[in-house]
Amino acid sequence: MPQMSLGMTGLTTTASVFWLTAAGAVGLLIGSFLNVVIYRGPRLWGLVDGDPRGNLAAPSSYCPACRQRIPWTGLVPILSYIAQRGRCRACSAKIALRYPVVEALGGAVALASVAAFGAGWSALGAAAFGWALLALAFIDLETGYLPDAITLPLIGAGVLSGAFHLIVPFKDCLIGAVAGYLAFRLVGAAYHTFRGRDGLGQGDAKLLAAIGAWGGWMILPAVVLTGALITLAAIGASAARGGKATMDQPIAFGPGLCAAGFFCVIGGRFFNVL
Ligand SMILES: [Zn+2]
Repeated sequence: MPQMSLGMTGLTTTASVFWLTAAGAVGLLIGSFLNVVIYRGPRLWGLVDGDPRGNLAAPSSYCPACRQRIPWTGLVPILSYIAQRGRCRACSAKIALRYPVVEALGGAVALASVAAFGAGWSALGAAAFGWALLALAFIDLETGYLPDAITLPLIGAGVLSGAFHLIVPFKDCLIGAVAGYLAFRLVGAAYHTFRGRDGLGQGDAKLLAAIGAWGGWMILPAVVLTGALITLAAIGASAARGGKATMDQPIAFGPGLCAAGFFCVIGGRFFNVL
C-alpha cells in the first residue's frame, strides 16, 4: 500500500539492490535468532523436557554440548559454521546442520518478501509472517508441536495486518482466520469419527488460521493443496532413503503447511492474485 511504504515507491535499480542486500543481511541475523527460538522455545514452554537455561533473549548463545558461551565471532550467520567446519570451537561437538540452514532460510524469506512487495511495510509484514512460519516448521520437525505461543499471536498479527491492508484487506483476513481454523477442525472431527483417533492436530488448525489471517481466505485451498504435495514429497523422499512411513503413523503436516503458506503469499503477489 503506497501511503504506508517507506517512501521507496518508484525504486531505481540501485535502491532495489540496496534494499535487497539490506533485507538479506537482516534476514540472516533474524535466522540466527530463530535458531535460539527453535531450541529454547519448546523447553521454555514446557513442550519438551530439558532446561532452556534462560529465556529467548538471555543468556547469549551457548554450545548445547559443552555449555560454553559462543563469542560473537562464532555467531556470524553461515560463515562461522563454514569456518569452524560445522564443529564447536571449544569441544568440537558437531553443530546441527539446522543452524546454517535456518539462517539461510531467514535471509531467503527477507529477500523474497522485498522482491515480491518492494521495500516497505508490506514486505516487513510478509517477512515477519515468513520468519514465524520458519520457526514453527522447525519446531514441529524437532518436537511434533506447533506452540500456541507462536500460532496464537501470529493469528492476531495477521488480522492486524489486514487493518493496515499490508497484504490483503481486513475482511479477507478475518474470514481467512475463521475459515482456516474451521476447515481443519471439521476435517479433524470427521477423521476422528471415522477412524476413532486424531489425524489432524489442533495445532494444524491454528496454523491454518494464522495463514488465512495473513494471506486471506482466497489462498487457503492453494495452501492446503501445496502443503499436502510438499508433505507427500517429504514422505516419499524419506521412504526412498529407507525410512518407514505407514498409514498409522501421525503425519507432520505443519512444516509442509508453513512452507505452502509463505509460498502462496509470495506467489500470490507475484501473479497479482493478492
Ligand atoms: Zn561445545
